[in-house]
Amino acid sequence: MSEAVPVVIVVEDEERIRRFVSMALQTEGLSAVEAENARRGLIDAGTRRPDLVILDLGLPDMDGTEFIRDLRTWSDVPVIVLSARTAEAEKVAALDAGADDYLTKPFSAAELLARVRAHLRRRAAIAGSGASSLAFGQIEIDLGKRVVRKGGAVVHLTPIEYRLLAYLAANPDCVLTHRQILNAVWGPHHVEDSHYVRVFMAQLRKKLEADPSRPRHFVTESGVGYRFVG
Ligand code: CA
Repeated sequence: MSEAVPVVIVVEDEERIRRFVSMALQTEGLSAVEAENARRGLIDAGTRRPDLVILDLGLPDMDGTEFIRDLRTWSDVPVIVLSARTAEAEKVAALDAGADDYLTKPFSAAELLARVRAHLRRRAAIAGSGASSLAFGQIEIDLGKRVVRKGGAVVHLTPIEYRLLAYLAANPDCVLTHRQILNAVWGPHHVEDSHYVRVFMAQLRKKLEADPSRPRHFVTESGVGYRFVG
């Protein structure tokens, strides 16, 4: 996908928003495919081989969560959902079902494009070589040796802290719900124990952030979960 123009499918029944999104994508040099309902969106996702899907959660013919569950049975294309400010639960359900990110309406073209770029970059990085170490600002993670450094100095992490960090770092710039983090780090029996995440996230901030009270990497997404900003 390095040379080809990335294709983004925009699934939104409201014409005004659909046009706004696809115009913004086109000014960025991306190819936008417009779908006005979920059924059409799933067909396009299957036939156009998109690099990204932007999905409105308020569609007339299908629940957004149902759309994502269907898509996830055969595709790992990144999905950014669009949600209304009042639809918090719906947004979290969509993320739990496998969406990668969300934008709350109303959003600006700049906000939209920042998210789009982050997910296209991430997809390109995944498609590239399997890196054995990751670096984010002052933080360096040696995945082979399971050693973490901050500004060159080794930082001791407990096994759980390391697992949490490795999971977050494998999903940079993505919103991860409490449930997703608990499931990945603690296992399926702990998906309700959000306090675990809070406690261990505070530990990681203390050990790895320059200023733990104003985290740059381990960012809280209020009411949803966390975002690891690379
Ligand atoms: Ca809509």
